[in-house]
Amino acid sequence: EQSLPGSFREMDPAPDHGEDSWVGAGRLEGKVALITGGDSGIGRAVAIAYAREGADVAISYLDETEDARSTAELIEAAGRTCLMLPGDISEPAHCRKMVDEVIGRFGKLDILVNNAAHQMLFDQIEEIPDEEWQKTFAINIHAMFYLSKAAMKHMEKGGSIINTASVNSDMPSPSLLAYAATKGAIQNFTAGLAQMVAERGIRVNCVAPGPVWTPLIPGSFAPEKVSEFGANYPMQRPAQPVELASSYVMLAEDMSSYVSGATIAVTGGKPII
Ligand code: NAD
Repeated sequence: EQSLPGSFREMDPAPDHGEDSWVGAGRLEGKVALITGGDSGIGRAVAIAYAREGADVAISYLDETEDARSTAELIEAAGRTCLMLPGDISEPAHCRKMVDEVIGRFGKLDILVNNAAHQMLFDQIEEIPDEEWQKTFAINIHAMFYLSKAAMKHMEKGGSIINTASVNSDMPSPSLLAYAATKGAIQNFTAGLAQMVAERGIRVNCVAPGPVWTPLIPGSFAPEKVSEFGANYPMQRPAQPVELASSYVMLAEDMSSYVSGATIAVTGGKPII
């Protein structure tokens, strides 16, 4: 049970797209995935979808929580193996160790999803502590570099790296100055690395979500504003996490072999430029 404020939990923006609605079709049979932030929100939905599509899944997350345990249970319930990797990805050594543990457990790594992120809202640049700026870059950007570099040593033809960008990559919100700067960099890193590793048969893409109904949200909005979350998007609601999962499955599966360097916007109809 996620600890969300009542107003957030009681509002269900898309009841037909609940967590259990993903039906697997063997698209990722035999693959191994590592997902950061795999305990919660979008990462959890992707982890469950990947397992139901036939992949073994390693989930990286900050703290041991009920969410992490229940994500692992859902992966195991799909008949796949879950490797749980708690720890702080802002530590480069932890990033490298996670890849080593995946290789030690499964012998390979096919899919890396750089999805965990940190964000805080500030009205003015002077209010942003230096440590906060550095933490945002360490989690959102540096970890993506260390993990991608370590994963690349083991990835073979058919490998796929998927990074979670944001509408803030193209349309930075001033109150999310540091976060938006990292999200722009994620898109640029994706496009650059995609070209660098294309000859090796490895693809690199990103997904840019619009508003998504996850535990990240109550911490970022005043309680009375939560009900307005997503209201100014064409579908006038936020996405459920599972509505993001299809893009991550598509980018991971072999049938998308010519898709690389792309940003898939999942924004309920809102153009991202
Ligand atoms: P979430 O808060 O539900 O999950 C994020 C998870 O990241 C946390 O549960 C935690 O386990 C992990 N994490 C955070 N800091 C970490 C650290 N230092 N070390 C290890 N793990 C850490 O978030 P979410 O809403 O599902 O967001 C997932 C991704 O989607 C993020 O990249 C976010 O920027 C992006 N995104 C979300 C939205 C949205 O509206 N929710 C919109 C656009 C983009």
